[in-house]
Formats: sequence, C-alpha cells, structure tokens
Amino acid sequence: MKCPYCGSDDSKVIDSRDVNDGVRRRRQCLNCSSRFTTYERVLPSSLFVVKKDERREEFSKEKLLIGIRKACEKRPLPAGTIDRLADDIEAELYGLGKAEIASSTIGDMVMERLRGLDYIAYIRFASVYRDFADITDMKQEVDTLISTGAETDQPGGQLSLLPNEKLRALARSHRRRRE
Ligand SMILES: [Zn+2]
Repeated sequence: MKCPYCGSDDSKVIDSRDVNDGVRRRRQCLNCSSRFTTYERVLPSSLFVVKKDERREEFSKEKLLIGIRKACEKRPLPAGTIDRLADDIEAELYGLGKAEIASSTIGDMVMERLRGLDYIAYIRFASVYRDFADITDMKQEVDTLISTGAETDQPGGQLSLLPNEKLRALARSHRRRRE
C-alpha cells in the first residue's frame, strides 16, 4: 500500500475496524508519518458492463480512468484526485454486488462526482457522455449549473472561466467530432 503523500511502501496499521462488508484500516506512513485510510474487501470475480447496444464487456478501470482523465485535462485538480475518483467508483460498483452493470449507471456515477469536483470537467464529460445534440443542449446544462449555485459553491467561480467565446469554440469542436 503506497503512501498517497510520499509514495513510500512502508506503513503501519494504527487502527482497524470492520465496516459493512469490509475492513477499514487507519495507517501511518513510516517514511513521512502522514496518516491515511485504506478499505479492504473481497471483490467478486468479474463485473460486466452492459453497453447501450446490449453488448457486454468486462469492466475495466483503465478505460474508466481514460474517460475521466480526458474530461479533467488541464483542470487544476490536486494530484491523485482522478485516481481516487476511479477507485471510489470501482469500489461502489463492486459494492453493488451485481454481475452486470449498465454503462449508463457508471456514466451517472462519474457525472455526479465530477459535478462536485470541477464544473468544466463535468461539462466536458457530459458533452461526450450525454452526447449533446447542439449548443442549446450544452447551454441548458451550464444554465442548470449556474442556477443551482455553481458559481458560488466552488472556489474561484469556475464557470466564469468559460466565457461565451470559449463555449462557442467548444460547441464547434464538438460538432466536428460528431461529423
Ligand atoms: Zn509517506
């Protein structure tokens, strides 16, 4: 178990307790003394994702990470945020205890988390995942964010970084991708 702060492999367990279907361990890094928590549980042998066209494909965290990284490209997110997000979704998926999960369920989980993390990444992910038909669809999503207080509940009011000009450029590139 690597320390999330310094990457060292050496840590000691300072507290351990059973929670639901797993064990939570509080650890302290022997190198930098930082404390962190790990969660351990038994995973079912495999999990399949059911795509829109009913095709099945084994769940791949790598693929999930690629999609999230793309949406978060060049966004000012603290190191490790994207990996934690993917870990979190993976744990939740396996925690559902199902053999098959709809791809839309996974998409919704990503959207929900990105929304609380970074609005630009959220809109980017939504534009691919929800397949916005045009700029009106995208504007609607942005308007919803604004009306639900997006500008004030994230530090720096990130939506102000997306002036109309940029929004139009985004829509143009999105249209190009669809052609
Ligand atoms: Zn450390």
